[in-house]
Amino acid sequence: MTSILVFVEHRDGTPRRASLEALGAAAATGLAPIALVTGPGAAQAAAPLSAAGAKKLVVITGGDHYSPDGTAADIAAAVGAHAAVAFVAAASSAGKDLLGRVAGLLDCAPLADCTTFTCSGGVFTVQRPILAGKALVTVQSQSKVCCATLRSNTFAVATGGGAAEVTTVATKGGKVKVTGVAAKGDAKLDVKEAAVVVSGGRGLREAAGFKIVEDLAAAFGNAAVGASRAVVDSHWRPHSEQVGQTGKTVAPQLYVAVGISGAIQHLAGMRTSKVIVAINKDAAAPIFKVADYGIVGDAFEVLPALTEAVKQAKAAN
Ligand SMILES: Cc1cc2nc3c(=O)[nH]c(=O)nc-3n(C[C@H](O)[C@H](O)[C@H](O)COP(=O)(O)OP(=O)(O)OC[C@H]3O[C@@H](n4cnc5c(N)ncnc54)[C@H](O)[C@@H]3O)c2cc1C
Repeated sequence: MTSILVFVEHRDGTPRRASLEALGAAAATGLAPIALVTGPGAAQAAAPLSAAGAKKLVVITGGDHYSPDGTAADIAAAVGAHAAVAFVAAASSAGKDLLGRVAGLLDCAPLADCTTFTCSGGVFTVQRPILAGKALVTVQSQSKVCCATLRSNTFAVATGGGAAEVTTVATKGGKVKVTGVAAKGDAKLDVKEAAVVVSGGRGLREAAGFKIVEDLAAAFGNAAVGASRAVVDSHWRPHSEQVGQTGKTVAPQLYVAVGISGAIQHLAGMRTSKVIVAINKDAAAPIFKVADYGIVGDAFEVLPALTEAVKQAKAAN
């Protein structure tokens, strides 16, 4: 059966949700997804990846450190070995890095940050944002292998898969080696992976103003705190929380923008969120143009009331 190669990121054998979504998108084409995993604990990913639709699992062994160019070479070799017609990965930092490398090795055009991914009659068609998210372009891949990264929180994870056949391949190795990764120092949910993102902007007046944003995020339970660049530049929040053109691109189920004006560069990172709620005291703020629900009011009055309402709704369920 014609196959699609999916690069899967994992931590000690537990696949990242964004990779499972990429696997789900591959499975939804009707072609056979082959999951490629590398690094310590890779073989342990077999069960969750089988359940999420992988028909085969390629475990790359050897190499004492993660190597982006080595992994790209391993992926390109696996594409050739399995005659895969597409390579996909999550549009994460690693996925973005690998996309260009793999597309270069396979002499194909890379399609980054796709929000749809379909295959009909052997032709892949994707949709992806352009012009800082102002427009969506539909692209038909003309490459011999369609190489794409897929936006997280956009595709469904497949369920009910069988047992994937596992093959082990030694890495080709690379020139670049990642010798260390510094932990963020906390176990906070990443804005890219959270189902709910509550983001704050300059309207919160100072770093301490984010307390009301954190309280609302905590009330949701599955939420991450995000930030506009204005507050990151002011050192109120870390860059890891920045949403937008020069920050992270998010597409959660619910995005709550608090005291954020809605500059085009911010919209570029969040306008494909499923439901957008904006809270701003200026009724003419551009954020309301992309919002599904808008509350014109002072964040310091609205947010505590909203947090209380979320707590009560959760307690009632
Ligand atoms: C090359 C480039 C890249 C950029 N990349 C990014 C990026 O990745 N992400 C990003 O966010 N920006 C980015 N920017 C910056 C962007 O242009 C804006 O300057 C920034 O998004 C503004 O942040 P803000 O909305 O928090 O602040 P402001 O624009 O100052 O808006 C504050 C808002 O808070 C409202 N407000 C004030 N008080 C209250 C209150 N008490 N209650 C409720 N509302 C209140 C105001 O009405 C206003 O709408 C970039 C700019 C450039 C040039």
